[in-house]
Amino acid sequence: MSIARFWRETPRRYNLGGSKCTMCGTAYFPPRAVCPTCAHHRESIEKMVPYQLSGDGEVVSYTIVHEPAEGFEMQVPYVLALVKTREGPVLTGQVVDLEPADVRIGLKVRATFRKLREEGKAGVIHYGYKFSPIGEFDTRPPGGPSETVPAATPASADRAPA
Ligand SMILES: [Zn+2]
Repeated sequence: MSIARFWRETPRRYNLGGSKCTMCGTAYFPPRAVCPTCAHHRESIEKMVPYQLSGDGEVVSYTIVHEPAEGFEMQVPYVLALVKTREGPVLTGQVVDLEPADVRIGLKVRATFRKLREEGKAGVIHYGYKFSPIGEFDTRPPGGPSETVPAATPASADRAPA
């Protein structure tokens, strides 16, 4: 991904701003303009609304990466996981703040805003979300009352124009 494209997409990436179809209730991240779930796609075009993901979810699949990608040399092994968010969309991201061996399917995690990597000699720093465990002893059942902590609220984040 080019740097220009990265920065253009950054606000919604770390705000986890998706979209939701008001016809069938399916949430999407990244946001979509048309709902592929609805039988009649065209009817959903005007029915998509902005939708903020909480950043909470659980690990549904993961891999422990031992071969570093460029820029990740200091971080191997690291965990790359598919996280099914409370709202439905599945996100891909690194899981941090625990030993790779402790990651398991069903682990409750929350997206946090972190430095992702540093690029080349110019030192361009990319930021985005990573996932950290909500709490290893947290056994609250899903769907109960919960605090709604935003995934990331950097003060300087610009809202993309609607
Ligand atoms: Zn729909």
